[in-house]
Amino acid sequence: MSIFQLSVQKCSSYQSDAIAAAVSKLLAPLGGIESFVKPGFRVLIKPNMLTCKDPEKAATTHPAVIEEIARLCVNAGAKVIIGDSPPAVFGRTEEFWKKTGFFAAATRSGADLFSFETDSKSPLKFFTNGREVTTHVIKTLFRVDAVINIAKMKTHNLTRITGAVKNLFGLIPGFSKAQWHKVFPRAEEFSDFIADFAHQIPVTLNIMDGIESMDGQGPAGGRVVKSNLLFASTSPVAIDMGFCQVVGLEPSEVPTLRRCKQLNWGPKTFAELQFVGYTPDEAKISGFNVPRTPPISMIPDIIIRLARRLVWAGPVLLPDTCIKCGRCRQICPADAIKITAGGAEFERNLCISCFCCMEVCPVEAIEMKSSPLLALGLRLRGLKRHLRQNKK
Ligand code: SF4
Ligand code: SF4
Repeated sequence: MSIFQLSVQKCSSYQSDAIAAAVSKLLAPLGGIESFVKPGFRVLIKPNMLTCKDPEKAATTHPAVIEEIARLCVNAGAKVIIGDSPPAVFGRTEEFWKKTGFFAAATRSGADLFSFETDSKSPLKFFTNGREVTTHVIKTLFRVDAVINIAKMKTHNLTRITGAVKNLFGLIPGFSKAQWHKVFPRAEEFSDFIADFAHQIPVTLNIMDGIESMDGQGPAGGRVVKSNLLFASTSPVAIDMGFCQVVGLEPSEVPTLRRCKQLNWGPKTFAELQFVGYTPDEAKISGFNVPRTPPISMIPDIIIRLARRLVWAGPVLLPDTCIKCGRCRQICPADAIKITAGGAEFERNLCISCFCCMEVCPVEAIEMKSSPLLALGLRLRGLKRHLRQNKK
């Protein structure tokens, strides 16, 4: 049995001195930053910069964590670039960085920011869902000496959690990410795609910012949870397994982790995960609310086609909140959104329930809802499971 080390530290604030102390302890069991970054290296840092929200909303990796990791790399003699390509701020990336504090953090640390859209692209071929696909990633990925993945600890309406494995999906620039939802619309097949893609990426070090995490309607509109945690590992799968363990979620219930297990990539069970720094019990977070896999993904296609009017799960608008900015329409891979005088309108027959629109909405004007019939079916299913468990 292989054992994967997962370093865990507690940190209760984003104050720079608190972060510096916690990150130093976090990386010590892995040999410190010097074991990953050598003088003269070019280092790419890939945080989660999903959206133009105040970092206190926990929708993005906090700039204070990025700043500290970047500073350590610069001090180790590296040239550091920090980048992402959030579709929500396409074309306005610099403005977004200034507003959210990423620009100031990068400047203070001595790193450069770069928007993935401005880079050349390299094709990446791999097998997923029974066939070979080609996607395009940023060329810089293959020109640097080290890649540091800094994920945010968050839930996700489609894939349940969005951690270190899914953060690598952001290496596909801009709107082309959303098109993969159209190719693989169901949660299971899309999660397989994410895991198969991430498995190709040469990542050196993975860190997860869980000082403040997000539960509920993630990855952009959930509740902020003071979880006071930082994770680090050479394996992105170990990070996501650790996330599951501290919030009491079975990895078998997370579709990306099910696929990682099939790939024999990273720890397959909690027994293969070695917590260092804090034990799982010491790091435990109570009451963390993880959304279920979208119920529509569990229903066979034929039933969905026959009963689309009655059985659906998808986005619903909060009309008073919508500012009619049109970002949801721009990202929608299924052309299922119109912007009308009353705000965004969703065409249920076209919608593939990918929830990209929720991700990019700047004002949380979109919620996920199930039709009454589907909600009833799920309640009965939950009740059945509950009765079965009580019988054991
Ligand atoms: S739902 Fe959100 S993203 Fe769509 S138009 Fe309204 S405010 Fe913009
Ligand atoms: S309407 Fe929203 S959930 Fe439906 S396909 Fe478009 S982006 Fe995805």
